[in-house]
Amino acid sequence: MAANPPLKVLFLSAEVVPFAKTGGLADVAGSLPKAIRALGHDVRVCMPRYGRIDRAKFGLTEVVPAFDVPMDHHTEPASIWQGTIGRDVPVYLVDNAPYFDRDGIYMYPDDAERFIFWCRAALEMLRRPELDWQPDIIHCNDWHTAIIPNWMRTIYKDDPFFARAATVYTIHNLAYQGIFGHRVLEVAGLDEYGFLYHPEMADMAEVVDLMARGIYFADVVSTVSERYAQEILTPEYGERMDPLLRDRRDHLFGILNGIDHEIMDPAGDQYLAARFDAQRLEARAANKAALQREAGLPEAPTTPLVGVISRLTDQKGFDLISQIIDPLMSHVDMQFVLLGTGDQRYHDLFSAVAQRYPQRAAVFLTFNAPLAQRIYGGSDMFLMPSRFEPCGLGQMIAMRYGSVPVVRATGGLADTVVDYDPRSGRGNGFVFEAYDAMALFATLVRAAETYKHEAVWRQLMLRGMAEDFSWARSAGKYVDLYYRALAAKIPREARPLDEYGIGDA
Ligand code: ADP
Repeated sequence: MAANPPLKVLFLSAEVVPFAKTGGLADVAGSLPKAIRALGHDVRVCMPRYGRIDRAKFGLTEVVPAFDVPMDHHTEPASIWQGTIGRDVPVYLVDNAPYFDRDGIYMYPDDAERFIFWCRAALEMLRRPELDWQPDIIHCNDWHTAIIPNWMRTIYKDDPFFARAATVYTIHNLAYQGIFGHRVLEVAGLDEYGFLYHPEMADMAEVVDLMARGIYFADVVSTVSERYAQEILTPEYGERMDPLLRDRRDHLFGILNGIDHEIMDPAGDQYLAARFDAQRLEARAANKAALQREAGLPEAPTTPLVGVISRLTDQKGFDLISQIIDPLMSHVDMQFVLLGTGDQRYHDLFSAVAQRYPQRAAVFLTFNAPLAQRIYGGSDMFLMPSRFEPCGLGQMIAMRYGSVPVVRATGGLADTVVDYDPRSGRGNGFVFEAYDAMALFATLVRAAETYKHEAVWRQLMLRGMAEDFSWARSAGKYVDLYYRALAAKIPREARPLDEYGIGDA
């Protein structure tokens, strides 16, 4: 059988571990390209060089000196700095001080312009003589990159440099769509191509929804678990985008995220008080004791300790937790350690919980990667009662670290956690279905009861630790997706642009 040829893939992500991270997207972008590279493909990553990314610390070198990037009716300069992830995956960091030399990553009034600039610079850098590298696949992730598939079918359509390139658009979270006013089309040089209008999504005519453009124009679309790929076709999970997603369902695929087994490794984790693996599970108790000390909680080896590491947003089920936290802390022998940042009301709520139950609850309202590892490695259970969850990495990392997940059956949580059944002894965690506070409470009580049976609990831990959540499982599926995108490109080229009212404006 003739092997498929190696591919050249440009992988664009607004955040990439270890350079910048706010959530799971950064973990994926910092690990999936390594796994695809290991399969023999030439993957290169591109992201903005935010001000916080220290050139000296990461050993960045300038590979393309300043060049002009077309914007609106003017040009903006960009230079390209190169770093590496893993042993040999190049990362191109787009530098432009006014756009990116700021304290944070997102939440600026000119975000649309900043990320459109980065995308345009990413495409234009490829043809600079210093790189001169023509990708077969342009892999775009989330709304920040969604303009690229749109460009490939409009302003770059007849550009011979990109003639062969197919686009893949991956949705990491449909809740963040990048919705802006119409001026964004001017910034992107697309004003003459009009609006994207769908008869079942009337409100879309009022705005520019970048993610909708990615979904509409990409040669193939993917999302980060099989379950979520099904869920987003429904009004309940579709975030108003389900009619468009249903139209594209033949080109929509779900591929479960992986975790980086090299970094997420309890046997080699430098942040743990004691390293351990399945053969040395007893060593894990020292991590629980150390975490209890760090959290200022009593060192109680037989009290189950529940960990939460999360962005503090409604998506993650904090309204459910807030409804049951008082009865849980008052009536169930359980400790609770939370690490997270996000909505102020949850900061206030959980600070108050820690004050009410100083012997039971501890709250860290910061972003702290080493502490996260200590919670994964020291907690007995890991709680993720999400309203929706495209994939979720926390439950996978927790399982690898022997913390048993307690989750709601949605998205990637449903694809990775199997409810413990005491009759058959099967399962690797605790799962509830309805988005309901009582269902969560009952499941936590069930987990706490099971915890009392040491041998059963040990089996649950070992089963989670034995799961293979490495990218080895999913990287090959992305390569298949890339070939599929190349095959899909041809008929889509023939598809009329006015199908959705494009150009009517
Ligand atoms: P999402 O991408 O929706 O935020 P995921 O579960 O996919 O959720 O990924 C979250 C990632 O961010 C995990 O690696 C988790 O450990 C990490 N994380 C979340 N909040 C914090 C925090 N406050 N400190 C350190 N790491 C965090």
